[in-house]
Amino acid sequence: MSSRRSCLFGRRSTARTGPCGSRSTLNLGRVPSAPSPLVVRLQQICGEENVFWRTEDLLVWEYDAGFDRHPPTAVALPGTAEEVAAVVRTARAGGATIVPRGAGTGLSGGTIACAGAIVVATTRLRTIVSIDRAARVAVVEPGVTNLAVSAAAREAGLFFAPDPASQKISTIGGNVGTNAGGPHALRYGSMVQHVLGIELVLPSGEIARFGGPVADLPGFDCVPLIVGSEGTLGIITKVWLRLLPLSEDVRTFVAIFADIDSGARAASAIIASGVVPAAMEMLDNVTIGALNAAFDVHLPTDAGSLLLVEVEGLSEETADWAA
Ligand SMILES: Cc1cc2nc3c(=O)[nH]c(=O)nc-3n(C[C@H](O)[C@H](O)[C@H](O)COP(=O)(O)OP(=O)(O)OC[C@H]3O[C@@H](n4cnc5c(N)ncnc54)[C@H](O)[C@@H]3O)c2cc1C
Repeated sequence: MSSRRSCLFGRRSTARTGPCGSRSTLNLGRVPSAPSPLVVRLQQICGEENVFWRTEDLLVWEYDAGFDRHPPTAVALPGTAEEVAAVVRTARAGGATIVPRGAGTGLSGGTIACAGAIVVATTRLRTIVSIDRAARVAVVEPGVTNLAVSAAAREAGLFFAPDPASQKISTIGGNVGTNAGGPHALRYGSMVQHVLGIELVLPSGEIARFGGPVADLPGFDCVPLIVGSEGTLGIITKVWLRLLPLSEDVRTFVAIFADIDSGARAASAIIASGVVPAAMEMLDNVTIGALNAAFDVHLPTDAGSLLLVEVEGLSEETADWAA
């Protein structure tokens, strides 16, 4: 693999351009008056309205939910996998690094474009291609939100388990990129347990497929390598997701404790008893206060900790666990 190829995706920091994390300002003195040849080529691929290059347009693309900040050279919003591939080939030919981006809710600066990189955002790749009830598989484009997949699965009588707290806006591409998970990870694991296949635009611009609609296909299983790779291996353009049957019964409990230690001991005792709740979260007194201030939830303000426990399964099972 050539050195240019190996650094095509991801963030590069060089002495020449300064490190990521430097604060940008709206410096009208450096506004380019005309699009660069690279930008013109990106416009030919994606359409003029889907490429941003003016300084003021790039401001909203210079940060995510982490601490770093750095404006990209340009932002491209391709509308198909073929356009993504053409963008990658163009960037490669122009020697530009690429940073893929979903909703930008990542907490580790994975979408920050350093060293003249261009951002390729999945804003226009938002189609739920299919939901196969019998096979329990959803095929979705990377810009679809996590919550949209959950809602579509539920409509089909199925359940999509990964549920990061950002699920209203975070995308499946970003969820794959970060191996996201939420409260249900306790029982069902994080994204890596729920991705069956990935279509990926490689640094060469080829469109490759890893895995597919069924688990355990012959050959090397590269899917777990791609999940959590933060966009450094390529741009995901389609994902095959595992769906689960909806549980017959779901019960949620709130237990109140005098302090954090007793809440933590209760959580350990639940697991030790052999019950694996679908979700279990502990809140300390500070979090309880913050929730009461933000929402109309009326949680007990004098509690040292609260344990939220959700169990699910057959009605007989959940009744047993509740007892
Ligand atoms: C309020 C809040 C709550 C959160 N709660 C949780 C939580 O409960 N659990 C959790 O795990 N995380 C949580 N997060 C973090 C974040 O939401 C997740 O990491 C989420 O998966 C990021 O999705 P995104 O679409 O915003 O991705 P981005 O932030 O846009 O990207 C994240 C990474 O994925 C890469 N990427 C994005 N799209 C693609 C693609 N198509 N191909 C290849 N790489 C790609 C990017 O390059 C980057 O490295 C939370 C964040 C916030 C702000």
